[in-house]
Amino acid sequence: MKTIKTANGRSIEIALDKSLYNKNEAIASINRRLLEEHGIKAVDILGSIGSGKTTITGCMAEILGKKKAVAALAGDITTTIDADRIREKGAEVLQINTDGGCHLDANMVKNALPMFDLEQLDILLIENVGNLICPGGYPVGAQQRMVVVSTTEGPYMIVKHPYIFKDASVVAINKIDLAAAMEVDLAQLKADALTIKPDIRVVFTNGRTGEGISELIAALGLTD
Ligand code: MG
Ligand code: ZN
Repeated sequence: MKTIKTANGRSIEIALDKSLYNKNEAIASINRRLLEEHGIKAVDILGSIGSGKTTITGCMAEILGKKKAVAALAGDITTTIDADRIREKGAEVLQINTDGGCHLDANMVKNALPMFDLEQLDILLIENVGNLICPGGYPVGAQQRMVVVSTTEGPYMIVKHPYIFKDASVVAINKIDLAAAMEVDLAQLKADALTIKPDIRVVFTNGRTGEGISELIAALGLTD
């Protein structure tokens, strides 16, 4: 039960519906098992609109694709722009159109998985919908989560969204070339992430030049 106080001091009780969350969690477990049975490493890639998720996913697919079978799932509200951009990098891409929905859920991913040749696949990169709030509450069954944060989002991006980082193993701090112009202190952003989650791995990236992408792949353990 959650209590919300209104402006006039009255409080409203809201019963939190746990059943939806539990249902998603159950389907995420099915996905996790299916991926594991096929030895597929999956990464759920989260981040705000414009943080650089697609560019980074494309860069990772390009490098990983030289040695591994890589596919991507691109969550998008309406367009196929992101899926097309990743496909240009040589990866097999499936678009999940959420039809306005602001996050992917486990059931969408469950329906998408049989579209890939799971026997052949090594790595699945799942680009979630651009949103730092609710995707955090909907695990899709990937073994790892990565959050992409851009310096253009300002100095308080990480401290203001602690929950999204708690379940992430890696954070990519992207567009580092713009940090000075944005008056963002990269060391402070890194420190903020480590304060929220001491064992999170922080990698500085520039998706336009490819800087840091190999380190990101290593931090996610995708090269083993
Ligand atoms: Mg995108
Ligand atoms: Zn949502």
